Amino acid sequence: MIFSSKLIEDAVQEFSKLPGIGKKTALRMVLQLLKMDTTEVDSFSGAISRMRHEVKFCKICHNVSDAEVCMICVNPGRNHSQVCVVENIRDVIAIESTQQYSGLYHVLGGILSPLDGIGPEQLYISSLHDRVKNNEVEELIMALSPTIEGDTTVYYIARQLKDLPVRITTIARGIAFGGELEYTDEMTLARSIAKRLPIENYVSIKGVNG
Ligand SMILES: [Zn+2]
Repeated sequence: MIFSSKLIEDAVQEFSKLPGIGKKTALRMVLQLLKMDTTEVDSFSGAISRMRHEVKFCKICHNVSDAEVCMICVNPGRNHSQVCVVENIRDVIAIESTQQYSGLYHVLGGILSPLDGIGPEQLYISSLHDRVKNNEVEELIMALSPTIEGDTTVYYIARQLKDLPVRITTIARGIAFGGELEYTDEMTLARSIAKRLPIENYVSIKGVNG
């Protein structure tokens, strides 16, 4: 791509560093910014810069936060005896968006993956242990991806905490809502049958399907 302006070229270069953004898309974004008022562009770039400089990670749950402790951890209205263990910040956002969970979180910062060099020391597992030991956590809900690495992480954490008085549960696995039985993979279908629920639990989830 040949540019007649080095300034445009530099901006395109910066945008194309983002995942999923190629040079053409980056150019479209830059040209759009060029059409905007300079005050709007200042506000745009200011928000990005402030976010990068000022965002913190909660010292309790490791979620993103504007303060030392995040809004979820300081909220007295939430159930502090329940902690949902997730891989990353995107998972917190996904679960919060369901509006079905009122407990706290613990962000591990990844899952165990020896092939990628990610061991227990790279994750926030010891801080989870401390949290369970020093606070009144009654239940840990393991909400990790249903993969070999996810299962290994759940198993590892359960072993680490086996002497502490905490109930460890995992999120249910089964056929996706709206999915068709015949197209479900064998592993999921087998697990769904093995972990079947009594009819009393077969209720509509408020906010999801009415
Ligand atoms: Zn927090």
